[in-house]
Amino acid sequence: MNNSEPTEVDELPEIEPKRWQCCHCGGTGSDSYGDTCRHCDGLGNC
Ligand SMILES: [Zn+2]
Ligand SMILES: [Zn+2]
Repeated sequence: MNNSEPTEVDELPEIEPKRWQCCHCGGTGSDSYGDTCRHCDGLGNC
């Protein structure tokens, strides 16, 4: 007997809010000088 019950797998274990980290500041939003990263304008991603 085969009971094909659909498995509920709607929950994702890990969710990444930041999809693209800035390649210049690494997602911090500030450069090595402590100023706002002008590559991502302080957003942390670009
Ligand atoms: Zn960048
Ligand atoms: Zn940046």
